[in-house]
Amino acid sequence: MPSDVFFADMRTKQGLSLLDKVERLFERAGFQNFIQPRDLVAVKVHFGEKGNTAYIRPQFVRRVVDKIAERGGKPFLTDTNTLYRGSRADAVDHLKTAVENGFVFSVVGAPVIIADGLNGKDYINVEVKLKHFKSVKIASAAYHADAMLVISHFKGHEASGFGGAIKNVGMGLGSRSGKQQMHSDLLPWVTEEKCAGCARCTCWCPTGSIKIVDKKARIDESLCYGCGECTVTCPESAIAINWKSDPATFQEKMVEYMAGVVKNKKGKVGYISFVMNVTPDCDCCGWSDAPIVSDVGILASTDPVALDQACVDLVNKQRPLHNTRLDGHPDAEDKFGRVHPAINWSIQLRYAEEIGLGSRDYNLIKI
Ligand code: SF4
Ligand code: SF4
Repeated sequence: MPSDVFFADMRTKQGLSLLDKVERLFERAGFQNFIQPRDLVAVKVHFGEKGNTAYIRPQFVRRVVDKIAERGGKPFLTDTNTLYRGSRADAVDHLKTAVENGFVFSVVGAPVIIADGLNGKDYINVEVKLKHFKSVKIASAAYHADAMLVISHFKGHEASGFGGAIKNVGMGLGSRSGKQQMHSDLLPWVTEEKCAGCARCTCWCPTGSIKIVDKKARIDESLCYGCGECTVTCPESAIAINWKSDPATFQEKMVEYMAGVVKNKKGKVGYISFVMNVTPDCDCCGWSDAPIVSDVGILASTDPVALDQACVDLVNKQRPLHNTRLDGHPDAEDKFGRVHPAINWSIQLRYAEEIGLGSRDYNLIKI
């Protein structure tokens, strides 16, 4: 059965700005119906890596915050720490970056809470019993929230072809060790020259796989199950992450993490996606390359699969822009397939539909 996806294009006039359209989308999609007074409502955003300029502007987020507050809900903005060492790798740097990018209380009207805590170790194991994972590690503030509004920037992504609502939730609300599990099929290893023999990693390893031998950490691969806790614990960055992952497996793992995030929030999650500044890469990059198509508009739904499908269909209807990564491909139909040719982005949609997270069939309702 098709799901409703509400769509506002980029046209505006006096008395109807794009900010007003965000409020209209919120109402038409019925998000007010699942927010009860005093609900703690997580507003999942991406604060943008330092240097990135394509993340969703705080002014848009403010309108969503105000709508939640109107219902008596208690909104907070949230995201998780990154797996890589950028400007959002722990809560201190993350909050500083959020402020630098404009997500301050006076603008957004809500506090910022980093969902997986100070150093990415604050998570809840959620049972999913799916193909890749029996359980997934969900950032605790996301798990404990009563309801959730997911605000996504729809754009390209180096590992999943495009990044939309599914990516924002699945990858974006997994704890740091959860991100390691999604990104890598391979076990971490110790770079001996960097290891100081401090034994800190041995305390964190849940399987007792690490021993100190001759003042260096050694991982027993027969015991290690690749949770990645050691990689984020080592103060010397001596335990390396292997980023290699088959793109199909990566997408399926991301979808299973999404299933874990929404498991205790049935009927309590709304999704808004901005198909604007459609950059070829994600907002975790410390730069934003030129958008590959013109701005399309803003979409909202309670079905994340239908929403992502509608977004990618709209992008693929646009003409490629000049002086972008689509140069030389004026007739490219599959825009993200052209930019990231090794990745079949449809896997995330197919698998999400298969495990019951939504429908790829949708009614696009223009407001
Ligand atoms: S935490 Fe890092 S430096 Fe310390 S023993 Fe483990 S690998 Fe070596
Ligand atoms: S990946 Fe997990 S199980 Fe393996 S050595 Fe590191 S902490 Fe231990």
